[in-house]
Amino acid sequence: MKGGADTLGEDPLSTNVQFIKGVGPRCAELLSKLGIHTAKDLLYHKPRAWQDRTAVIPIREAREGETAMFAGRVIDANLRKTRYRRSVFDALIEDGAGEMALTWFNQPYMAEKLRVGDWLLAWGKVGSYKSLPQIVAPEFEITDDEGDDPAARQPIVPVYPLTEGVNNRRMRRIVSNCLDRHAASLVDLMDAEILRKRRLVPLSKAVRDMHFPESDEARAKALRRLKYDELFLLETAMALRRENIVTSGGAPPIKVTDRIDGRIRRLFDFEFTSDQDAVIQGLRADLDSSAPMNRLLQGDVGSGKTVIAIYALLSAVAAKHQAALMAPTGILAEQHYRTLSKLLRKARVEFALVTGGMSAAEKARIKKATAAGEIDILIGTHSLIQDTVDFERLGLVVMDEQHKFGVLQRAKLKRKGANPHSLVMTATPIPRTLTLTVFGDLDVSIIENGPPGRKAVTTRLVPPEKRKEAFEFIRGKLAEGRQAFFVYPLIEGSENSDVKSAVETARELKGIYGEFGVELVTGAMDSKAKEAAMRAFRSRKAHVLVATVVIEVGIDIPNASIMVIENAERFGLSQLHQLRGRIGRGSHRSYCLLFGEPSTEEAQKRLDVMVSTSDGFRIAEEDLRLRGPGEFFGTRQHGLPEFKFADIIEDWKLLVAAREDAFGLVGGDPGLRRHPSIMHRVLENYRGRLDLVEAG
Ligand code: ADP
Ligand code: MG
Repeated sequence: MKGGADTLGEDPLSTNVQFIKGVGPRCAELLSKLGIHTAKDLLYHKPRAWQDRTAVIPIREAREGETAMFAGRVIDANLRKTRYRRSVFDALIEDGAGEMALTWFNQPYMAEKLRVGDWLLAWGKVGSYKSLPQIVAPEFEITDDEGDDPAARQPIVPVYPLTEGVNNRRMRRIVSNCLDRHAASLVDLMDAEILRKRRLVPLSKAVRDMHFPESDEARAKALRRLKYDELFLLETAMALRRENIVTSGGAPPIKVTDRIDGRIRRLFDFEFTSDQDAVIQGLRADLDSSAPMNRLLQGDVGSGKTVIAIYALLSAVAAKHQAALMAPTGILAEQHYRTLSKLLRKARVEFALVTGGMSAAEKARIKKATAAGEIDILIGTHSLIQDTVDFERLGLVVMDEQHKFGVLQRAKLKRKGANPHSLVMTATPIPRTLTLTVFGDLDVSIIENGPPGRKAVTTRLVPPEKRKEAFEFIRGKLAEGRQAFFVYPLIEGSENSDVKSAVETARELKGIYGEFGVELVTGAMDSKAKEAAMRAFRSRKAHVLVATVVIEVGIDIPNASIMVIENAERFGLSQLHQLRGRIGRGSHRSYCLLFGEPSTEEAQKRLDVMVSTSDGFRIAEEDLRLRGPGEFFGTRQHGLPEFKFADIIEDWKLLVAAREDAFGLVGGDPGLRRHPSIMHRVLENYRGRLDLVEAG
């Protein structure tokens, strides 16, 4: 790769657009609305489409229902009002062999834009009007006087995202001028070897061909190159972050001897599964090193990740270090605390719980003990990463359900120690594509098979007319001693009404299932009340738990074998999968009943997927496909990069190639000292967002 040759300071590409031929101050202001400020912005202004002008067909060949492009001259134009005071603008065009109507409703200003005598190109779906072919609201472009239009003689012409005051023709002229003047200044970060190996076109050609390709093939090649660059920079950032973790050193090596291993295992009243054993083997190797462990543990709900977390925590404590376990909700943190309490009844390990719901005095006491090193394991929620929490000798951090946290929170927890080992766990199976992007710097372990004895969950869609029958079925199960969850969706912005519907249902269910005990948990309740309700359910005082999705993660109550999800069509796939994972944990046959009526095809698809499979990875892939990467993690800060060209699902193969190249580069030049221009670009794109430590 090239390095050092370019000057970073006076980059001609950072020239203000107003100095590009054909722009000027007023136009520059308009362009700024499109986010175009510099020559480089203009070069990278991606067309939203391309017209294939070789595809223009004669009007007489227009076929109703087909989308096509026509060229013609306006021979009549007429603005009128309908009886209902809607405006209609009709322009009649002809191309020597046929006539066609172009029609716009409620756009009276079209009368200003199109005048008799104008030549234009129009494209859109052909309909018909009074026996003439017609296009309603076509895309169009006036083409007379194309002498100064760089596109006039091009077979394929870019169509840009525009802003008021700059039309396509003008944009093309400006871009073309900018290409003439500045394309040569584009610094190609890739050397000839990579270009050859990956069959990539040089950067300046790619940028040129993105705007004015000679063929579809040239355009595809151009885009492929631009995608590669984005993916390469991301993966370089990942490689740097990872290198920083690996070489920063200073992690306390934690040796897990066979004696310690045996002592930890004896705490459990079951044998570890072979998948758990495999993960633990890797964990022991990771911990016994001064390079901090940086591992992502994926395992479906119920696969037994908590065992691994506890093993890691106790290993750290056995080596005289402190350890922290962070969970996304108070309920889950409390559950972990309880699990530890049970396991460690006879052990001399000090552990404590800190959650948002605790009194200030209690929190202060725990913080003080933690800072003094008197507490070995601190379990908590987001409270753990508050500035006031300090450790004396933090050696390991574990994050449960890490997809609920952002990249920066992960980093913040780690900064509580000098350079602690870190284990993050997730039950949302993450498609490989995302493992390579959002979590691209982590080592990945997977638990594929959970503990034996888990029963497959029967999943059914319950339409409104079958509700009653379902309620009877549930009654039968409750009578046998089983327990049931009833879950309500919480949709952002409508919390109040959703909570209300959960509250109302709880009341209704008390009427139906009163004798079995009905409890309610909502996000709106204070943590004391929440915990009391959970306690009643856990101790089987109550057999029905009505909840908003606060029970989504982690809850482990094996006797619960029924999961009713109301308005199931309003949940995302991963969420449904998580919820279903709450049951099927005991020896009883379990049932997931999806109540609802999907009104969209997508919602129907989601529910079908749920009914047809319980394979978490398949569900995750489907989810990613249905919702797209941005939505996959919900609205939380997820650290997913925004690409202009690349699509991590579609461009998966290119992503893998770029990753290989990026890790190869960083491996051979740690810190990229010999590749300052690449380093510069990575920092430009990812500084802050990915918590990259600036090198040098
Ligand atoms: P998750 O991966 O969802 O966090 P948990 O760690 O909560 O799963 O485990 C789910 C259930 O399986 C728990 O009740 C746990 O005690 C049990 N479990 C975990 N590992 C084993 C094992 N090796 N053998 C038997 N039961 C196990
Ligand atoms: Mg768990």
